[in-house]
This record gives sequence, C-alpha cells and structure tokens, in this order.
Amino acid sequence: MAKVLCVLYDDPTDGYPKSYARDGIPVIDHYPGGQTAPPPEAVDFTPGHLLGSVSGELGLRSFLEKAGHTLVVTSDKDGAGSVFDRELVDADVVISQPFWPAYLTPERIAAARNLKLAVTAGIGSDHVDLDAAIAHGVTVAEVTYCNSISVAEHVVMMILGLVRNYLPSHQVVLDGGWNIADCVSRSYDLEGMHVGTVAAGRIGLAVLRRLAPFDVTLHYTDRTRLPESVERELNLTFHESAAAMVPHCDVVTINAPLHPQTEGLFGDELIGTMKRGAYLINTARARIADRDAVDRSLRSGQLAGYAGDVWFPQPAPADHPWRTMPHHGMTPHISGSTLSAQARYAAGTREILESWLAGRPLRDEYLIVDGGRLAGTGAKSYSVNTR
Ligand code: NDP
Repeated sequence: MAKVLCVLYDDPTDGYPKSYARDGIPVIDHYPGGQTAPPPEAVDFTPGHLLGSVSGELGLRSFLEKAGHTLVVTSDKDGAGSVFDRELVDADVVISQPFWPAYLTPERIAAARNLKLAVTAGIGSDHVDLDAAIAHGVTVAEVTYCNSISVAEHVVMMILGLVRNYLPSHQVVLDGGWNIADCVSRSYDLEGMHVGTVAAGRIGLAVLRRLAPFDVTLHYTDRTRLPESVERELNLTFHESAAAMVPHCDVVTINAPLHPQTEGLFGDELIGTMKRGAYLINTARARIADRDAVDRSLRSGQLAGYAGDVWFPQPAPADHPWRTMPHHGMTPHISGSTLSAQARYAAGTREILESWLAGRPLRDEYLIVDGGRLAGTGAKSYSVNTR
C-alpha cells in the first residue's frame, strides 16, 4: 500500500467556501491539437469547487483510502521540522502544485527512501531537482495541458493591463479620485505593437493565437520551429534566439520552462537590448528573469512595465523587491489555478495515480523523468545540468 504525501496551499483566510460565484464550469474534453483532457475512471469532487487548497485535497481522499492507501495533506512545506520533511521520510508519492511548490531538493530526495513518484498537479516540474530524480530513479510527471489555456488568458490580461495602465487607473477609482491625466499619461493601445514570445509551446502558441486579432505583429523564438502553415496563418516572424528577437518587440512574453538553458536569461544584458519602454510578461518561472535586473530596469525606465505571477521562492517573502518596484502588475502564482484548471489537474492527478498504482504506464505526454532519464514531454521541453 502506498503513502501519498500531498502539499497544497492553505484554505481561504475566511474558511473553505460554502458556495461559489458560479454554478459550474464549461466541460472541456479536448485541448487544441486533440490531446484529451484527463479521463480518470471516476472523480469524487465537484468540478468548479476549490480543490487545490488543503481542504479540497485534490478530491483524492476517498479514492485512495478506499483502496487502502494513506493520504497525508499539508501546507506546511518549508523550514526545519516542517510536516512535509517529517512525512517525506517514508512517502512513496509526493504531489504538489507549482503555486505552492514542495521543493524536492537533492537532500530531500536522498532522505525520501521510498520515494518513487513526484506528481506536479499542474505544469512545470522545476521545483523537483530533475538531476536528483534521475539519479534516484524517481518518476516525475505533470498534467500536461491542464492549465495552458488558463495561463495564456492570464498573459493576454497582463499585457493589456500593463499597456493600458489598468491597475493604477483602477486604484484611482478605489481611492475616490477622478484624475484622468494620472491614468492616461502611461496608457497606450496595443494595436500596432510588436509582440514576441520566448517559446511557442502549448502556452506560447495559445498566447499568439489570442493576440492575433488585436492587429499586432507577432514574433517568436523556440528550439523547434512551428509548422510553416501556422507561421503563415498567424503571420509570425521566427527568430533564432531570444537575443535576436527582443530588440524588435514592444512586448515580450516568456513561456518556456525553467531549466539550465533558460535560467537567468533576462538579465541586465538582454533587457538592455530591448526597446526603451518595452513590457515584459513572465508567467513561466521567476528565475528565467534576474530579480534585481527587472527591478533596476523598471526604475531606470528601460522597461515600462513587468507583470507575471511567478516568484522565487514561493511564497515570496514580504520584502521581495517585486512587491514594491514601480510599474508592475504582479499577482501571486495564480494563473494556472483557476477553478476551471483545478478540475482538470485534479482529474489528471487522479488519472496518473490510477495508472501508477495499477502498474500501467503513464501517458507519455505526462512524463518529465522516467527510468532514470528525461522522458515524454520532459525529453522534448527540458534539459538537465551537464555541469
Ligand atoms: P510546453 O512544453 O508545451 O512548451 C514549452 C516550450 O518551451 C517548448 O516549445 C520548448 O521547445 C520551449 N523551450 C524550451 N527551452 C527553450 C529555450 N531554451 N528557448 C526557447 N524555447 C524553449 O509547455 P507549456 O507551454 O505548457 O508551459 C511552459 C511553461 O510555463 C511551463 O514549463 C511552466 O514553467 C510554465 N507554466 C506556468 C504556469 C503558471 O501558473 N504560471 C502554469 C503552467 C505552466 P521544444 O519543445 O521545441 O524544445
């Protein structure tokens, strides 16, 4: 019987919801390109309910306990003596979400004698040290595509929010004011701008598709070029690298995984080659951008705005400079954890567990590491340290 250790974010400060703003969510059974949304054998939750917090338990408890497995759920994940550290010692499976990541460091992986499977209930498994997982034969899997469109929508929202100066203008209303000039002196139209994405995978391509009707010029860079038909359809300009692309762009959106090739990519040097007054949106992973270089470039005016929802570490400390730098539109890490997305990644987590507990192979597209090497989506989109 397996011990499953699940690290989830805390319930809302005023308690687990008793009712919701809407009565349901649309049923999505296929993603763009045809991949099916997770079809577990059954689910024990109501789609549209809060599943990602401790009391939501990703809807896993009765499924696991009925089959004789143990489920431990906690939000206490950091610091010496955390519940996570204590329970990890004999856990077979660890589940966590990127929004509240259980950092599986090499030390923790070495201490977790029974650990065989690390599941990301979401997308992005950089909170797991992939080299250590490879070395210890731990399988790493994530629920590929579950929240890609959720993030793409967030990116479009943040681009418009920055370019139109939405948040400061909303603040004027909250403060009881009406000074139009304060609101519009940093407000522009997106129409006519050049927008580029670093990576055109599931999220990056979805962002490009959503932006095309805004009459912008679209650019992208990726390790693999998109099919010519897609480039033609969206009138895309391909660039060999981020360095080659960003000088052409008014808006840059980062949609690549964090791995050795992308870590620290947006530092002083690259940001210094962007147009003065460009906007940078990063919902991928915080460490793709250099924390202090972003802060500096907003203060100097090199960037007109920075927005995203990804920080390091998470939760971000109260004195993190991205909370107080000028012209930012940061949120906590929420873009991939809408109630709509939660239903999909809770179902996908269950699908992964159903397969793994029954000894069946996991869907290839869910795999990041398996059998001591990068596998599936991991083999395509990640790299490991070769240092
Ligand atoms: P995909 O795997 O579909 O796409 C990732 C793309 O990045 C691939 O096309 C890959 O290229 C490309 N890529 C990898 N390395 C580089 C590089 N060095 N330079 C240029 N392109 C590169 O993933 P998704 O689009 O679904 O997700 C992307 C990332 O977004 C996730 O890894 C995660 O970190 C983040 N994310 C954030 C969320 C949030 O809530 N904020 C939620 C979900 C994801 P190729 O495959 O051609 O080699």
